[in-house]
Amino acid sequence: MTKKKITLMSAEKLSFQAEVSRLLDIVVNSLYSEKEIFLRELISNASDACDKLRYLALTEAALLGDDTEFAITISVDKTARTIIIADNGIGMNRDELVANLGTIARSGTAAFLGDLSGDAKKDTNLIGQFGVGFYSAFMVAREVEVLTRKAGEDTAWLWISDGRGDFTIAESEKAGRGSIITLRLRDGMEEYLEADRLKQIIQRYSDHIAIPIKLIDGDKVETANRASALWTRSKSEIKPEDYKEFYHHVSHAFDDPAETIHWRAEGIIEYTGLLFIPGARPFDLFHPERKNRVKLYVRRIFITDDCQELVPEYLRFLRGVIDSEDLPLNVSREMLQSSPVVQKMRQGVVKRVLGDLEKKAEKDAESYAAFWENFGAVLKEGLYSEHGSEQATLLKLARFRSTHGDALVSLAEYIGRMKDGQDTIFYITGEDGAALLSSPQLEGFKAKGVEVLLLTDPIDEFWVPAIGQFEGKNFKSVTRGGADLSRVKAEDKPEDEQKDETAEKDDDIGSLVALLKLALKDEVKDVRASERLTDSAVCLVADDGDMDMHLERLLRQHKQLDSAFKRILEVNASHPVIRRLATHVAARGAEAEIDDAAYLLLDQARIVEGEPVPDPRAFARRLSGFLEKGLA
Ligand code: ADP
Ligand code: MG
Repeated sequence: MTKKKITLMSAEKLSFQAEVSRLLDIVVNSLYSEKEIFLRELISNASDACDKLRYLALTEAALLGDDTEFAITISVDKTARTIIIADNGIGMNRDELVANLGTIARSGTAAFLGDLSGDAKKDTNLIGQFGVGFYSAFMVAREVEVLTRKAGEDTAWLWISDGRGDFTIAESEKAGRGSIITLRLRDGMEEYLEADRLKQIIQRYSDHIAIPIKLIDGDKVETANRASALWTRSKSEIKPEDYKEFYHHVSHAFDDPAETIHWRAEGIIEYTGLLFIPGARPFDLFHPERKNRVKLYVRRIFITDDCQELVPEYLRFLRGVIDSEDLPLNVSREMLQSSPVVQKMRQGVVKRVLGDLEKKAEKDAESYAAFWENFGAVLKEGLYSEHGSEQATLLKLARFRSTHGDALVSLAEYIGRMKDGQDTIFYITGEDGAALLSSPQLEGFKAKGVEVLLLTDPIDEFWVPAIGQFEGKNFKSVTRGGADLSRVKAEDKPEDEQKDETAEKDDDIGSLVALLKLALKDEVKDVRASERLTDSAVCLVADDGDMDMHLERLLRQHKQLDSAFKRILEVNASHPVIRRLATHVAARGAEAEIDDAAYLLLDQARIVEGEPVPDPRAFARRLSGFLEKGLA
């Protein structure tokens, strides 16, 4: 403990960010079964630190000095009961130490911590999926020391904590750059003092690390991993577990990848891709920045994980690396933005990934459906942002819920099931599929067995109008314009019967509609007899050229719209209430009651639609009036 100079004067005591303390509580107290993963986490960090410095040294060789061979060294001291993990990577200065090992800065983490339930078992599961990185050291150590010196700086810093609420930082000394992490083991953790056990852990989780991991056992030094970049090995040599561990390392996530795509492109440009589709949604998937995290390497050297030109936004769920043979090592951010090589690689990534998804959709509908549940909403963004063949492929890949049962359908399947006389792809948009299913606007479609797509992602409001049609069939919202159902034959009823029904209704309804229109002239754009209602008395629809009602609500919620379009009120001529009203009007002409009935019908349609009732008091008064009469 005393081998480093700590002048108490300069030691500073700081508290962990509240979220870190919470995380540490769970890490330390929950019986996390795989304690051994602490080593994987610390090695992963050491490897990242070396990658970062290697990149900086491309433009500033002095940062390396004589120490040009990157390595991670692991040793134990059985008497002191410590494990020591050292690297000659970039190191940290004081501020970085405080920020990196005292707070959680990674995006999505707040949301993740919000998901913690307090139930140890569930939380452990979540953490297993999320990974706790550096803090996992406290699973095996009662105290952790980090002695670190940033490349290019003279001052070293010593960070010490027992993981309970606070840590101290003091100025210190260290020969050479990089970090030395010392774990003082808890009782019962003796197994981690055995070199063989450590070697086993390294080979299980860290074999893919491209930097040599040197294990020191007494006076024996052994490199415990293969120390070659995983993606450069041939596929036949790589075991599924190797891929999985590499995925954990590059993605900082701990689910199993749903898909592994490893390929080498040779030709005009050369590169290797090793990409993963995660098995679970990453926490930052819907972060407004919509950044991809795929790492760009140039000839095995890490360049950046922030090259947005490399992968389109709609594939931002991908994790992994692209390693280019053609880009210069000193490539700048500006160069990347306009590089034709990067453009070509992007095309390659898109082709490869979409091709893979097409195969998956064909071969294994069930696992494709699982993929779609996770990432369909993101992939659909491409329907809006892309054009040409990329868009066409995405349309083929798209799946939807529909009024035809629970299974997901493709547009091709939808078209295959269209009714005689149907030439339109019908859809309805809203937040929630189950709620959509009971929309009154769907009634006539259900009655005629016409399938309607249920679109519940906000992006659906944008790509559908932008694309307009698929294989010559127009998309049409069932909440907009005429229902276009007259040309579609009903399921079982012979045609003449349908006509009779219509003829019977026509007589009185005309004058009722005219009166309703008069009563509601300031509230609605039009009133008309409905073709789409069978059970409900009324519903609202948007006029053909107007904005869809759901989109309007969406924009108003996001304060991007403050005006409202007037809607069309449709009435169901075969509904008992409307029929009575029509007879009433035919017999007695317009009375004051018609006004109240008109407003009640309109407010009812608004409520079902999820729109606010503009005058709730008037609504209540009218409803009470009718109830009173009904009960008399
Ligand atoms: P992550 O690796 O996912 O960012 P960690 O909790 O594992 O999260 O590490 C937090 C941060 O601490 C890292 O992002 C890095 O900036 C810093 N860090 C950890 N270990 C080292 C190290 N050995 N050398 C330099 N920086 C490190
Ligand atoms: Mg880490």
